[in-house]
Amino acid sequence: MPGTNLTREEARTRAALLHVESYDIELDLGSAPEGGTFRSTTVVRFSATTPGAATFIDLVAPSVSEIVLNGESLDLANFADSRIALPAVRAENELRVVADCAYTNTGEGLHRFVDPVDGETYLYTQFEVPDARRVFAAFEQPDLKAAFRFTVTAPAGWVVVSNSPTPEPAGEGATRTWAFEPTPRMSTYVTALVAGPYVGVFDEYANGDQRVPLGVYCRPSLREFLDAEAIFDVTRQGFDYFQEKFDFAYPFAKYDQLFVPEFNAGAMENAGAVTLRDQYVFRSKVTDASYEMRAATILHELAHMWFGDLVTMEWWNDLWLNESFATFAEAVCQAEAPGSKWPHSWTTFANQMKTWAYRQDQLPSTHPIMAEINDLEDVQVNFDGITYAKGASVLKQLVAYVGQDAFFQGVQAYFKRHAWGNTTLPDLLGALEEASGRDLKTWSKAWLETAGINVLRPELRINTDGEIESFTVLQEAPALPAGARGEAVLRPHRIAIGLYELADGSLVRTDRIELDVDGPRTEVPELVGRHRPAVLLLNDDDLSYAKVRLDEDSMAVVTDHLGDFTDSLPRALCWASAWDMTRDGELATRDYLALALSGLQRESDIGVVQSVQRQVKLALEMYADPAWREEGLQRWAAAAEEQLRAAAPGSDHQLAWARTLAGAARTDAQLGLLAGLLDGSEVIEGLAVDTELRWSLLARLVATGRADDKAVDEELVRDNTSSGQEHAASCRAARPTAEAKAEAWASVVESDKLTNYVQEAVIGGFQQPDQRELIAAYREKYFAAVKGVWESRSHEISQQIIVGLYPAYQVEQATLDATDAWLASADPAPALRRQVVESRAGVERALRAQAADRAAGERH
Ligand SMILES: [Zn+2]
Repeated sequence: MPGTNLTREEARTRAALLHVESYDIELDLGSAPEGGTFRSTTVVRFSATTPGAATFIDLVAPSVSEIVLNGESLDLANFADSRIALPAVRAENELRVVADCAYTNTGEGLHRFVDPVDGETYLYTQFEVPDARRVFAAFEQPDLKAAFRFTVTAPAGWVVVSNSPTPEPAGEGATRTWAFEPTPRMSTYVTALVAGPYVGVFDEYANGDQRVPLGVYCRPSLREFLDAEAIFDVTRQGFDYFQEKFDFAYPFAKYDQLFVPEFNAGAMENAGAVTLRDQYVFRSKVTDASYEMRAATILHELAHMWFGDLVTMEWWNDLWLNESFATFAEAVCQAEAPGSKWPHSWTTFANQMKTWAYRQDQLPSTHPIMAEINDLEDVQVNFDGITYAKGASVLKQLVAYVGQDAFFQGVQAYFKRHAWGNTTLPDLLGALEEASGRDLKTWSKAWLETAGINVLRPELRINTDGEIESFTVLQEAPALPAGARGEAVLRPHRIAIGLYELADGSLVRTDRIELDVDGPRTEVPELVGRHRPAVLLLNDDDLSYAKVRLDEDSMAVVTDHLGDFTDSLPRALCWASAWDMTRDGELATRDYLALALSGLQRESDIGVVQSVQRQVKLALEMYADPAWREEGLQRWAAAAEEQLRAAAPGSDHQLAWARTLAGAARTDAQLGLLAGLLDGSEVIEGLAVDTELRWSLLARLVATGRADDKAVDEELVRDNTSSGQEHAASCRAARPTAEAKAEAWASVVESDKLTNYVQEAVIGGFQQPDQRELIAAYREKYFAAVKGVWESRSHEISQQIIVGLYPAYQVEQATLDATDAWLASADPAPALRRQVVESRAGVERALRAQAADRAAGERH
């Protein structure tokens, strides 16, 4: 029984049989204000290579009322198991399907949302990976492209946006009908529809004779916060940069960006109609790191218009290439586009993407970048740190290897050759080989077909005059966790070594050597005979993908002077190395805290500051020796208050420390300060206690029992928006009582009424590290419920629960034992198993790190 799954084999067979010409899709969304279902009528025209063959089309719908193939009505019993069986196709076919499809509240298919501010209904589609079939009957696989013509009936006064430009609506009375022009040939997963009383701001991209209409949309309740000009600026820079580097004009008729509610991902690259999560419309003050991340997302989706939408992967096993390319493209565009506000994007890349990749690559579920994707369930759990972040890191290494000019020449040839078609990895590698003259098969094998991270360590001998007698880069094979796929190999690395000296309190690079590291030992004769610098940094400039260790003397200098590197990238690399060592139990949590307390005082890159703040919190909660934990948490909270008071008024640093204190406050005085900031009796110069910060302050007061339900009610009156409702739900789940925990648990696990966002908020509130004892009893309940959740809920919703409610804060052997017992007895499906095994690995790692911290405590 396929359920909602589809195997690669089935997709291959169907692609060999069919060529799809077009879809005519009529949707009646007049029912949207009430919800329930909507009428969907699909007419598909397609040809078949083997007349008489049987095949099927995909549809997820409560009911079907008509199936007509080539003029003949088929029995409605052909619709079963999310498919409509087509018993015998002809050479040329026309299929008509009339169905009642359901609005969703999970962010998959056609999501329906009612804004509490105006009571209006807002819809948008999200189709990746296999959810177009929740809106119309579709051959749901990326290599069956077609032209799509949408005709939409919706309430008069609504705005309706799709891939083609929005036409004038026709009709009168309560509804209107929008008849869109057919799209160019595209995959089902990048078609889109956004409908509701959204508001838009318009502009255009002009380049010579080229004119591309630009639109930016959001709900009216967010309009006052929509900084459309800033969004258009980044978008135009992206158009300029990508059109030049790709040597291919933007391929669609217009470019709309729609900020939509309760969106699961960051954004989605629907052709010409990109959807983005509407937290990117900032309703409270955020730091520059948030603006940078939004700009990166905008550029990422824009790059997909070429890489993904114009030229599309044949099957989901090349998802990594799709996502890695867009992730690399966002960073290189920010680093190089004239006028970019974030030219230090490679620091952010090192700080965020690499950290994500390194973490994911050490989980038991790690896999080669080229993953086997046998079916849809495989791909849905594969939007991971390997697919996005390791893939992009390895592409960066590939660019260092072939040179950026050759890289883009190859990409240009690839777009010209495969425009509007589908490809596999060898199509791109072939184009890059032609452009660069290099054989990429060995490279591809080492980097794409194996899992894990190599460790690079320096080995050096210094003579009595302080000169380097020998310098060797040691490469270790990845320590693959038990059960991980692939063999552990050494790889060729193109790296730089940075030499840094202390001068006037700053750490300045005095020289840089670039070399190929290959095999277990690579001698570096260029360094022999030179004076030993203060810091020797392997993988400087972050060209390769490897865990890097510092020699003892360099580590000592970095511990005292991390904040003194004049350049942000080596700082980010050292921060990353320290974090990595903490996770590996090579650096005790208490020593990491000491490093953070000294280094953060001088760290100017706000994105790095915020990452380290999150990492310190995680380390204290998970990796600290429980006997010492409270002391560490107190030190951290005291430092947060001190930094908050010392920060420049109105600065990003001030805001970041205020948020940190809001999460860390423990003493009466600190909690009193939070309460005072909230009620206005305490003021910190320049700190705007705005909507979002108010909720952060209140959340901590509620979780510590300092504020009650009534305070939450009152806050919700001030901010009765969808975000306010989510915060309120989170606060209620965070109350330190057994009743509150039981209520939160039941609302998530025993009911499916919560929307994706409210559910996420409740889970976040439920899981409080300070409430370990209170939630300990839910370990058993979790294992009793998790399989049923997986089987009965949608993919997004079940993933939130499986990962979010795992007893992650119960760092003890009993949690590992309970997990193992469940794994042995429950016979979980591979995708479910993977999520639980990854969560288990977090506890196992925490136990090791706690032991390391305990040992350090005994030494100190
Ligand atoms: Zn993407």
